[in-house]
Amino acid sequence: MKYSDAFVFDCHVHFGQYYDLYYRPSLVVKALYRNGVRRAWVSSTTACIAPDSFEEAQYLSRHIDDEVEEALAEAGKCGMLLVPLYWAVPKRYDNLDKVDGFVYAGFKIHPKIGEWDGKIGNKLLHDICTCAARKKFPILIHTGVDTIDSPSRFETYFANFPDVTFVLAHCQTAREVIHLFEKYDNLLGDTAFCPLDNYEQIYRAGFGSRMLWGTDFPITHWYHGIRDKISLSILTENYKNTLVHFKSSKI
Ligand SMILES: [Zn+2]
Repeated sequence: MKYSDAFVFDCHVHFGQYYDLYYRPSLVVKALYRNGVRRAWVSSTTACIAPDSFEEAQYLSRHIDDEVEEALAEAGKCGMLLVPLYWAVPKRYDNLDKVDGFVYAGFKIHPKIGEWDGKIGNKLLHDICTCAARKKFPILIHTGVDTIDSPSRFETYFANFPDVTFVLAHCQTAREVIHLFEKYDNLLGDTAFCPLDNYEQIYRAGFGSRMLWGTDFPITHWYHGIRDKISLSILTENYKNTLVHFKSSKI
């Protein structure tokens, strides 16, 4: 990853409801644009809300579609290219037909959200990989230090779907990521909330070119930003700080 790329493509951006805060899609897109981002993969954290009923699940799905439309409309005005990722959640499983008919061009999976263990989760995962292989969609997977979100958990899918590009968000843990990079060519990682130490280990292991610039913006704001009022200038500043932090890496 070169720093110049950082100003072009961000593979890990969100909008929507995140716990107590709402990040308007159009505001997020404007903040990206002001920081020089011209291409981004985006997905809605509204998908993290657990529905209590089928009706609520349907309502949430429609709401997320509207958010995506808003983001795309804003991007169109700015001249940015957004790639919406369909954030699949087993609990809201409404089949993947809409992925064929809508604007989605990739998937987001968060193994800690939406009960991925079990029959429904396994079937959904298989369906996602099959669809991704057919349509040449990337799959962005949250990774963490627990068994449930360890990247190794998905290893059989990396092996069985060699034509699908899987992106290991956050690159946790560095040891596992390096091990999997050695075994599979269809894996990339991203820098979103990736500890600099992890990034440096991966780079030194010879896999720097497999790392995509990703920020998890505006979750960076949720953790570190001024919380009482979300404005364009606050979000723009937050994204800029993320860039500055990453540039402190020695590599
Ligand atoms: Zn994320």
